[in-house]
Amino acid sequence: MSYLQKHSDITRSRVNNFVNDNQWKDVNIQSVLYNLIMSGEPHVELEMWSAPGQERPPFEHAVKQQFRPAKVGQMLGPSWTTHWFRVTVRIPKQFVGLPVEFHFDPSCEAMVWSAEGEPIMGLTGGNGGERHVEYLLTSCAKKDEEPRKFYVEVACNGLFGNGDYHQHPQDRAIYYRLSSADIVSPNKAAWSLYYDMQVITEMANRLPRESPRSWQALAAANDIVNVFEHSDLSTIDKARGISDKFFAVESSPASHQVYAIGNCHIDTAWLWPFAETRRKTARSWSTQLKLMEDFEEYRFAASQAQQFEWLKLDYPSLFKRIQEKARSGQFIPIGGTWVEMDCNLPSGESLARQFLLGQRFFKQHFGHTCDVFWLPDTFGYSSQLPQIVRLAGAKYFFTQKLSWNNINKFPNTTFRWIGLDGSSVLTHMAPAETYSAQCRPGELIDSIKKHKDIAYSNESLYLYGNGDGGGGPLRAMLERMRRMADVDGIPRVKQAHPQEFYEHVSKTARELVSWKGELYFELHRGTYTSQSNNKLWNRQSEFLLRDAELLCTIAGFGSAETEFEYPAEEFTRLWKLVCLNQFHDVVPGSAINMVYRDSDKIYEDIIASANSIRQKALASICRLKEPKFQTGSKGLAVFNTTGWMRSDIAAIPVSLYSQFADLDGAVQIRNHDNTVLVPISNVPGCALQPVSSNIARIMRHPEHPACVTQSDSDTFILENRFVRVLFNGKGQITSFYDKKERRELVPKGSVSNVFELYDDVPLFWDAWDIEIYSLEKYKTLNGAVVVIVDKGPLVASISVRVPISDGSVLTQTISLAEHSPRLDFDCEIDWHENRKCLKVAFTWDIYSDFATYETQYGVVQRPTHRNTTWDMAKFEVCAHKFADLSEFGYGVALLNDCKYGHSTLENTMALTLLRAPKAPDEHCDMGHHRFRYAIYPHTGTFNESSVVREAYQFNVPLMQLPIEIPPGNEVANNRPFFSISGARNVVLDTVKRAEDDQQSFIVRLYEAYGGHAQALLTSRLPYSNVSKVNLLEEPINDSEDNGISALAHSKALEIAFKPFEVVTLKFTI
Ligand SMILES: [Zn+2]
Repeated sequence: MSYLQKHSDITRSRVNNFVNDNQWKDVNIQSVLYNLIMSGEPHVELEMWSAPGQERPPFEHAVKQQFRPAKVGQMLGPSWTTHWFRVTVRIPKQFVGLPVEFHFDPSCEAMVWSAEGEPIMGLTGGNGGERHVEYLLTSCAKKDEEPRKFYVEVACNGLFGNGDYHQHPQDRAIYYRLSSADIVSPNKAAWSLYYDMQVITEMANRLPRESPRSWQALAAANDIVNVFEHSDLSTIDKARGISDKFFAVESSPASHQVYAIGNCHIDTAWLWPFAETRRKTARSWSTQLKLMEDFEEYRFAASQAQQFEWLKLDYPSLFKRIQEKARSGQFIPIGGTWVEMDCNLPSGESLARQFLLGQRFFKQHFGHTCDVFWLPDTFGYSSQLPQIVRLAGAKYFFTQKLSWNNINKFPNTTFRWIGLDGSSVLTHMAPAETYSAQCRPGELIDSIKKHKDIAYSNESLYLYGNGDGGGGPLRAMLERMRRMADVDGIPRVKQAHPQEFYEHVSKTARELVSWKGELYFELHRGTYTSQSNNKLWNRQSEFLLRDAELLCTIAGFGSAETEFEYPAEEFTRLWKLVCLNQFHDVVPGSAINMVYRDSDKIYEDIIASANSIRQKALASICRLKEPKFQTGSKGLAVFNTTGWMRSDIAAIPVSLYSQFADLDGAVQIRNHDNTVLVPISNVPGCALQPVSSNIARIMRHPEHPACVTQSDSDTFILENRFVRVLFNGKGQITSFYDKKERRELVPKGSVSNVFELYDDVPLFWDAWDIEIYSLEKYKTLNGAVVVIVDKGPLVASISVRVPISDGSVLTQTISLAEHSPRLDFDCEIDWHENRKCLKVAFTWDIYSDFATYETQYGVVQRPTHRNTTWDMAKFEVCAHKFADLSEFGYGVALLNDCKYGHSTLENTMALTLLRAPKAPDEHCDMGHHRFRYAIYPHTGTFNESSVVREAYQFNVPLMQLPIEIPPGNEVANNRPFFSISGARNVVLDTVKRAEDDQQSFIVRLYEAYGGHAQALLTSRLPYSNVSKVNLLEEPINDSEDNGISALAHSKALEIAFKPFEVVTLKFTI
């Protein structure tokens, strides 16, 4: 007689205790899971060798070393060390006829290797839910088994690195204990009952009480507990009869359909360095290959071409096995990108390269590109992604990170995401709100409960398997999955390629809702700023590579006479490195210190190589044999790599260029960096210009010099023909006057260039988060000393010293050049703070409801008010080279050379300069920093301004070579190699040689302001054919009219642009 409905909570606890692996395990199901367990010699013989330091030697090296006897209880460490075990197992006769497993638990990660050197599977020790320590030796032991020899490579780190990471730096000296090395025989029937009960009890726990199935599950579970007797193994079959009956009730045809896919999110670096990721990948993926043998329905997806490439290099046989399983459809390469990148900070071109490198890798090694852009875990999604995804040959998008928003709940699950230019991708965010599901009924119930679009599409994706540090699905998950496939009460579950899900949705869904513009992530806003050197070098790498590719293309295609070899392989290598560091825990600043020591070296390599290539290419263009400065030269050649005409001031080291100093004082010597300033006027875009002849002419009579004056002890004035800027004794701007417009920009009573030091203690994720309450608590810093540095005529400047605290100080040089209204701020900071955030703020007399921020290939507008919680959540936003605040007739842009954290509240714009989080890297951003920002006032609104070009120029200096170009040199005749006319809103972004095609080059342009354009593009490089291609450089065959037409009379191409469109052209010679 059962009265469980009268005491159902007690019954629920009772059945839960039946599967409990802590209490009651001597009498519950746990007590019968193993028939036999044996350990120690002679059954298990262990020998070990510890690799020196933090070396990770390959198998071939390790097994040749001197191994010494070892046993259970052995301590392993410290963190990041590697220990190899040689294991000899002798199966005793008691196991004959039984399955035999080897259980090896080093309390950290490990890899089992065959004696021949084949990686077999990964192990995860410890007591967490990720634990899997079982290696099946035989499914049926025979009499007289030969001793088995194999190896285990122990890595002293857990799946999540070493130690706690949220609010503390990781402990570097953790030791792990080898806690078991047993041979065991599992009782298969008992395990089956155990998995049955895990599913049934959770259905009893998690289904709503209104559901009859909740009660049926509770009753079945209770019956099983009543039937089971731990001392009588025959009761297991009887109990299984009850569970079979329960599972036999199938779901209805109207049930929700879940498409399940195994995965193991492996952060390419995070709480471990890149080198460990290479091993994590092998451990995780080899484990999955093993599971595929036993579960033929099992499907597993893995992303990030970089991880596949590492595997191919380090574990070639494993890579081949994966290729085979990819052919049979069980192992699914997915995503299409080089790594799962951050999508806030990388430039448009970087995102394009992520796909170019990724899709090409997948095509080459797996026969096809990926249709699904896969990015479960990144910190916000740029509004240009839909266009980039479509141009990269993909059409679907998967993520789930927006479920972490801590202010607003994102309202859609399955929807059309419409990008900045109107491109759309079918997007799905797993309603179970995780990419590491554990195959439990509760998560499937959530797939319905949290699905916001079931009315349109009654299906969802479900990603299961341990992740972040790899691991992946465990056997228990696949067992539960089999049981949950078609059971009344929970959704039907089908293991499937994610593409199948999207294709089915495309065919069957009612008209889906859409979301326009960026998918702003309401968390991790500190990642626009943390690890600022990474941000600086990322920006520099992007622009250096741009210049280098452009110049190499010109050098290689510009003239038949020069034999310049385009360094295609080196560019591929460098772009892979840039893309690697854009992984979603590296450039955002959320990794441990070790990762940044690695990325520092990577950036050093990129910058040195790109610089050297750039110099060589420019020398080749100038017909010089050696890319060296000609000391003693009286000439100067500059190359303008931007796509438009510009004027600027070149700074040349005095030591190299003393000749210029003789020109009657017309050229200015700048004291603080000991350079000669030389004015460069009207260099066409993509053109070389010798400047020696101009200098005297222009500079002997500077009509409107830049100058600086001190009107009283407390007031400094920087002035040129455009503006007059007043500073107080604290270095703050009290007046910014536009002479032509007769307009004062600083409101009465306000000041600008104000440094604010905020308390920056987030709720949980230290390096990741700036929280909204931080804005409530700050102090304003006052500059202490202002001095005049340069008096003009080319550049006038003052220097301000701003003490931040006892340990930190900022000095900045504020400069105004003769030729521009732009006011530049060159900053140096010694920064030694604890959980503080430094911002600089500018208040302008400008009235607008929104500000404009640069994003990849365009701009986004965001509110300057906090009307709604959605507006309020954007209290810190990402922008690339500029933010702009404009009203009718006038605006001011704030430019930067490496900062990404911005905000605009009403008429105050702020730029976040530095943070000081202590976890997971306690040294984050401590030390010396140098960066620049600028104020650029302009007539007209943002759309009428040249802010895009100005910000580009601020980041891309004129390239200069102190050489005399002989008269008659046709290269130096000022004619641009590429020119665009007729559309000032079109930017020439990338010029490179085509992949795999030495006879073609690629030109990529974009519309930057959000309007249509008809641009005329002229190329001085010869070509016979031009076609429109996608980012993978494949022809776009969408229509006959592809928007390009050749104008015979002018040798120009007319190209039509839609707002924010990215156009890639392939020119073939
Ligand atoms: Zn991640």
